[in-house]
Amino acid sequence: MAYDPDNIFARILRGEIPCRKVYEDRHVLAFHDIRPQAPTHVLVIPKGPYTSFADFSEQATPEEILDFIRAAGLIARQAGVEDSGYRLIANHGPDSHQEVPHFHLHILGGRPLGPMLV
Ligand code: 5GP
Repeated sequence: MAYDPDNIFARILRGEIPCRKVYEDRHVLAFHDIRPQAPTHVLVIPKGPYTSFADFSEQATPEEILDFIRAAGLIARQAGVEDSGYRLIANHGPDSHQEVPHFHLHILGGRPLGPMLV
């Protein structure tokens, strides 16, 4: 799917819409979800124009992928949920109910999350 440069996360990356930033490096931005589903609910996004996980996994450079994975682990650690546990979710495409067409990883934690619901 073609990348929509006006999606909400692209606008956050351009600074057109504010976010509560928790982390940033050359390839990654992370911020609190506007409608948190758990005490910790952070969204981790690559800065590159990837619509979903499929695009990111196929098109991102090894450096982008490495920075992204490392950042997600670091953010979870810094959020204090590493010992208690957390969940990582990436929705891809319509069946997953992906709302924002810019690849993102949800980090959820801070309370018992229960079994995965599908
Ligand atoms: P998806 O369903 O695409 O995996 O998740 C998109 C997430 O982005 C949702 O959890 C939603 O609450 C969050 N979101 C949507 N718009 C905004 C926004 O403008 N700012 C922030 N911080 N989060 C947003």
